[in-house]
Amino acid sequence: MNIAFIGLGNMGAPMARNLIAAGHQVTGFDTAARPEGIPLAASAAEAAAGADIAITMLPNGAILRAVASDVLPALSAGVILLDCSTVDVTSARAVAAEAATHNIQTLDAPVSGGIGGAQSGTLTFMVGGASEALAKAAPLLDVMGARTVHCGPAGNGQAAKICNNMILGATMVATCEAFALADKLGLDRQAMFDVVSTSSGQSWSMNTYCPAPGVGPQSPADNDYQPGFAAELMLKDLRLSQDAAEAAGSPTPMGAAATAEYASFVQQEDGQGRDFSAMLPRFSGKNRD
Ligand code: NAD
Repeated sequence: MNIAFIGLGNMGAPMARNLIAAGHQVTGFDTAARPEGIPLAASAAEAAAGADIAITMLPNGAILRAVASDVLPALSAGVILLDCSTVDVTSARAVAAEAATHNIQTLDAPVSGGIGGAQSGTLTFMVGGASEALAKAAPLLDVMGARTVHCGPAGNGQAAKICNNMILGATMVATCEAFALADKLGLDRQAMFDVVSTSSGQSWSMNTYCPAPGVGPQSPADNDYQPGFAAELMLKDLRLSQDAAEAAGSPTPMGAAATAEYASFVQQEDGQGRDFSAMLPRFSGKNRD
């Protein structure tokens, strides 16, 4: 396929490289990044002209909306706009509505799996949009990822992503505060892991991504909390969950508490650039107010 790929940062560049390696023609565009090995156009619209599909991997919903306004008039009718960014549900649905006026179908397909998953082509895609559009995009999703879940109409991919990450943020905070409490109660961290990882307190945060160094599987905690999944990206996703909860009128007290913890960690402490599991040394270094 002839693919326009807009947004060639930490995630977009390796995803585009995997498409090139699979034999597709990729023309990229980024306002700042100039990654090796990806042919570049002078503008997003120029990359989109003549493309069979346009893929975006951008920082946020405002930028996605601006890029979509540039790109949609340049795409031929029947082409698909596949957005893999994590953005607010409202922007995803607004772009879908604007695209429909150009006879373009959209898919919102945010990912989990991080930079490692983007490099190895093992991302999970959570997809909102029409089944027929997904069927056309599926061969490309199979190159960039290992798993695709169709979550329903436009915006539902973003809804799934932020609900998942709201659970992840809340369970990571809960796991880290419990480790810090266990320390203060004199409980050995290995014993804490052995009990919780096989008991009803278990979660992905404990079992697969244990925030305590030297305990459980290898995780960013064993690498001085280098990300991994940076605390500021968790904060971004938690904020999206709170925006969506407010718009939908749905109570999310645990999501709100996790958002407040990550906001203070990233903005007022040393959380920026650290893995999101560095909540554990943060709690260890604090006393109860
Ligand atoms: P990034 O900042 O590395 O890349 C974004 C790129 O978009 C940058 O290169 C930037 O120059 C470019 N850009 C900004 N405005 C543009 C415009 N108007 N036109 C063209 N290019 C533009 O971010 P990333 O880590 O690659 O993340 C991309 C998206 O994926 C985000 O929505 C993020 O939340 C999501 N995500 C990231 C991860 C991760 O681990 N990094 C994991 C899952 C999802």
